[in-house]
Amino acid sequence: MGRYLGPSCRLCRREGVKLFLKGVKCETAKCQIEKRQRNLAPGMHGWRRPRASEYGIRLREKQKVKRYYGIMEKAFMRCFEKAERVKGNTGILLLQLLERRLDNVVYKLNFSPSRKAARMLISHGHVHVNGRKVDISSYSISVGDKISVKKSDKTRKCVKEQLDSNPNFTTQGWLQLDRDQLQATVVALPSRDDIQIPVEEQLVVEFCSR
Ligand code: ZN
Repeated sequence: MGRYLGPSCRLCRREGVKLFLKGVKCETAKCQIEKRQRNLAPGMHGWRRPRASEYGIRLREKQKVKRYYGIMEKAFMRCFEKAERVKGNTGILLLQLLERRLDNVVYKLNFSPSRKAARMLISHGHVHVNGRKVDISSYSISVGDKISVKKSDKTRKCVKEQLDSNPNFTTQGWLQLDRDQLQATVVALPSRDDIQIPVEEQLVVEFCSR
């Protein structure tokens, strides 16, 4: 699996919004976007803000979604094609498919500080779905699925610490979390309101179906 290895907040700067790729760190002044002279686009021409073209606006919206979920072009387009085949609003279906990724769900349950950390937890076999180990981050969860943490003291301690570090955290309505058992049930599919990314999905669809 390919992945981006460069500085995370460079991506925040490019998109002009915080993407929370480093978890809570991005909420503090540690996010480069908050530093003076750093809220510009990255690179030596960052101070120049060329007039965005129709194409440019749509490209940035697509890149924003892709980077927010931390996936590469190929995986993203696969999701788009899947969304396109289903009847309904392609933009919302696309976001819903991305939101249903196991790495996103693990992050939304606050089992990990970021989606990147969630992918690590999953690929190392610490996450179970319906009692079975699933080590594929792109695994798409369905209603009724039970997501739990491997029954090892080390893993459970690690996840418990993450949960305790964020006492004000509440899970979204489509996920039901049992904090003591470290188990969650998917009670519904995420709605557009559950998906917090500031994006105009229609522009993404226009870009991808060009
Ligand atoms: Zn950042």
